Amino acid sequence: MRRYLARMTRVLALALCGVVGLAQGDDGVRAETLAKNLFGSKDLPAATAPQAHGFYSKGCFAGGVAIAADGPNWQAMRLSRNRRWGHPDLIHLVERLSRDAVADGWPGLLIGDISQPRGGPMLSGHASHQLGLDADIWLTPMPNRRMSRRERENKSATSMLKNNSLYVDDRVWTRAHEAVLKRAASYRQVERILVHPGIKKKLCDTVTGDRSWLQKIRPFWGHYYHFHLRIGCPAGSTGCKRQAATPAGDGCGKPLAWWFTDEPWRKPTGPAKPKARDIMTMASLPAACRAVLSAPGPRSESVVTVTGNGSFSAASSAPVSAFAPTPDRKIPVPFSRPSR
Ligand SMILES: [Zn+2]
Repeated sequence: MRRYLARMTRVLALALCGVVGLAQGDDGVRAETLAKNLFGSKDLPAATAPQAHGFYSKGCFAGGVAIAADGPNWQAMRLSRNRRWGHPDLIHLVERLSRDAVADGWPGLLIGDISQPRGGPMLSGHASHQLGLDADIWLTPMPNRRMSRRERENKSATSMLKNNSLYVDDRVWTRAHEAVLKRAASYRQVERILVHPGIKKKLCDTVTGDRSWLQKIRPFWGHYYHFHLRIGCPAGSTGCKRQAATPAGDGCGKPLAWWFTDEPWRKPTGPAKPKARDIMTMASLPAACRAVLSAPGPRSESVVTVTGNGSFSAASSAPVSAFAPTPDRKIPVPFSRPSR
């Protein structure tokens, strides 16, 4: 029932957005639906081989898998958003981080937004997260109990900053926060991790020993409740556009100093520009995203859900591939998993 309600809420939200989301064509008759409405209405991934198409802020992906709402070392938050989806490489990496982080003394991950089932622009929030290669992880340690669905909707994350300040509050920041970020940065696939400049500064000021991982920790607006983990283009995703490499060095000192001036925090002047996601149509996305949108989905959500207890959900008792829309139970379709 809850699932049904969540679904209906999404459908309703889409219907409302659809009313205002029609962009009138030049001829005044043709109306083109916004890409965010098309991608936002998909409940399940495209059941084809995993592929990311385009760029983090302008793209989509096929062959997505979900991270389960509950795992041995994680709890997913804001379940009604249905943003627990990602490229299998990312989802398996998050699962691995959850295990490694516990070994490092972090009590488990609270997982925020990853992507919609087929990526694409979202109805609200993020500009990026479109390729299934970005994941938000809360900086709030996981509580030592399972939270209810309602709690996961309403619980506020803990800010790492002092009130009205760009600096970290030492009453909430711990060495375990440093450890989970260091662990996340240690994976080869992770190209960058976005955090608030205050958090970057805290790391710059306190990390001793190996500081090479600080190169991947990038200061950015927001990100004081959560960090944003981004992996590079997966092998085989030929249509995935790589992001420029992070500059050499630990990123402390001069490059960070700019964030502690007035300039980055000044209110923009002039008329407000619409957000890219609010005007993006299919024409601005890679052509492959049309096929992603129209591809059939998997048999059920559970066959494409990573549980951390032997990879896929217990509900999929038969060895059915995530990428076979009409599965033949006798012949499992090979599913390329990372070798980790
Ligand atoms: Zn994010």
